[in-house]
Amino acid sequence: MLLAPVRGIEGGAPAGGKGREMARQEKEKVTLQIEEGTLGIRNATCPNGCDLMDPGVLIHDLPSIRVAYEAEGKKGSVHLDPLYGRFESVHDWDPPLGEIVEFLCPRCGESLRSDEGTCRICAAPLFALQLKSGIVEGCLRRGCLYHRMTIVGSDELMQRLFDDRSQDSYL
Ligand SMILES: [Zn+2]
Ligand SMILES: [Zn+2]
Repeated sequence: MLLAPVRGIEGGAPAGGKGREMARQEKEKVTLQIEEGTLGIRNATCPNGCDLMDPGVLIHDLPSIRVAYEAEGKKGSVHLDPLYGRFESVHDWDPPLGEIVEFLCPRCGESLRSDEGTCRICAAPLFALQLKSGIVEGCLRRGCLYHRMTIVGSDELMQRLFDDRSQDSYL
């Protein structure tokens, strides 16, 4: 038996151009329906599959998402708020507002920059976090709150998210 990549475990992760098109349509539907701050991210990874969750730093009592960043030649790390749509992230060093930063995987150093488009508000590049069943993207400009989520998953997953979202929804 071939070992499937992590995203294949859902059994329905579409591949190729058609699948991407479908995911894009789902995104429009999903981003309208998720109430911000009601969906927790529990399984963020870098493009190489490194676990980015950091149980050592909690935000809203949930493990935060740790990424390394660079701006103006300085390096730091940031713990991102794991509740989608909330912005109570913790930085060890604050780049100036308006600055475009680079997000990197703190383990393998891979860039987290998304190659899918740019910020719709300010046209800066986006970062992307890989979830078990989707992708969260956000603007790399400090102070810009633009973000979006694309869910690539089964009907059961969608159903669970929208049925349970007030209690314990997560991706
Ligand atoms: Zn990595
Ligand atoms: Zn932006």
